[in-house]
Amino acid sequence: MDRRLEELIERGVIALEKLVDEEIEIKVETKPPVCPHCHMMNPTVRVGETDQSGPLAEFVLQAYCTNCHNFFYVIPLQTECVKTVADAEVVINEKVRLGGYQGEDPGAAAGSHAVGASGM
Ligand SMILES: [Zn+2]
Repeated sequence: MDRRLEELIERGVIALEKLVDEEIEIKVETKPPVCPHCHMMNPTVRVGETDQSGPLAEFVLQAYCTNCHNFFYVIPLQTECVKTVADAEVVINEKVRLGGYQGEDPGAAAGSHAVGASGM
């Protein structure tokens, strides 16, 4: 094979392998919604109103676990931004469905997501 062609193919393969590595690096592990105090999966939480402001990427939410009565902090690792509450419902319902959290908390009525938790 032509030496130059061989070199080009080799460089192409190296570039592809780098791309694959980078893609794996930017994947964020999705952690389950678990209370760090009582370790309950998908507990019902209460969030207070806040008028604090700051960068969206540094958004953090204080949550009160109604199971163990402790406060903890939620740091969203993925940011899904939608325009309306209806759009948010669609995303949340899909997230709940994919996460298999349905039926975890029979006390929570359908659609009683922690809307407003964003501190808006
Ligand atoms: Zn708890």
